[in-house]
Amino acid sequence: MAEEFDLIQHWFTRTSRREDIRVGIGDDAAVLHPPQQQDLVLAVDTLIEGVHFPLSTPPEAIGYKSLAVNLSDLAAMGADPAWATLALSLPTADEAWLADFSKGFFGLAEQYDVALVGGDTTRGNLTITVQVCGHLPINQALRRSAAEPGDGIYVTGTLGDAGLALEWLSGKRNLSDTEADFVLTRLNWPTPRIEAGRALRGIAHAAIDISDGLLADLMHILSASGMGADLQAQSIPLSETVRKQAGGLLLALSAGDDYELVFTLPESTEADMLCQMADIGVSVTQIGQISAHPGLRIFDGAGQPMPIARTGYNHFSGAI
Ligand code: ADP
Ligand code: MG
Repeated sequence: MAEEFDLIQHWFTRTSRREDIRVGIGDDAAVLHPPQQQDLVLAVDTLIEGVHFPLSTPPEAIGYKSLAVNLSDLAAMGADPAWATLALSLPTADEAWLADFSKGFFGLAEQYDVALVGGDTTRGNLTITVQVCGHLPINQALRRSAAEPGDGIYVTGTLGDAGLALEWLSGKRNLSDTEADFVLTRLNWPTPRIEAGRALRGIAHAAIDISDGLLADLMHILSASGMGADLQAQSIPLSETVRKQAGGLLLALSAGDDYELVFTLPESTEADMLCQMADIGVSVTQIGQISAHPGLRIFDGAGQPMPIARTGYNHFSGAI
């Protein structure tokens, strides 16, 4: 882009309080000084207009969410976020769009003291790739493969809200203005559970963030750990808005984009976890247990197995 340099200077160069950046935006590459005795944690995610967010998404929300989904990956590892790079492909250099996008991006970046240290700007369909880098004490990453038999399975927040927003946007649901506002906020402004992930270091076994739906993401933990799970359907945390909807449970089980954490831990660390989550003001609900018996089973309020087909999630036919 001819005006690329001016654009970057204007919208993406911010001073940061961080003292671990030797070279930031403006050279051929960033030079960072990672903390001693920590492991580095890297994640990258691409958002494509019309694929990962609806065309109607406000640019400020796009800026926020492009960083939030990456921070959510760091949260799921238990990492402290530190630096980010941003590869931006734009159809036009629209100043108003850039102003809003950068407001959303930096609003969240400043909240977690994440510095934007580099990137790339090209002309093309609207595509945003953010890479984040964080760190954590050596060998304390929360891995998908670490679930053990007897672990409780827990989730943060409520599930299905973002999925309901997508159905409302496509005209499949009727919601009041207040309900629509609530679910759109959950879709466009997901809270990365950074503090929760940090609190889980050293006390949780396995963790993952819910980007593709509870069942799909929990299955990643089960496959990686070689375990099974028993879930209690009536324990799955639903907001009032989702609870009122026909098929609300189905949304909570199979719709993505909530960016809550699902994690497992043994009974011995449960009290510690609940205490820490209460301190940081994050709600946590136990939804089931890890079992050595492979497969994912869901039970209704009467303790009867629910056929997984009824949840509408077909990918599991082989696993049940
Ligand atoms: P090069 O050709 O060496 O890759 P660029 O002209 O692409 O250099 O970028 C110049 C500087 O601006 C680099 O430090 C790069 O990291 C930074 N930069 C480019 N685009 C972005 C962006 N969208 N966000 C943040 N930094 C960017
Ligand atoms: Mg470049």
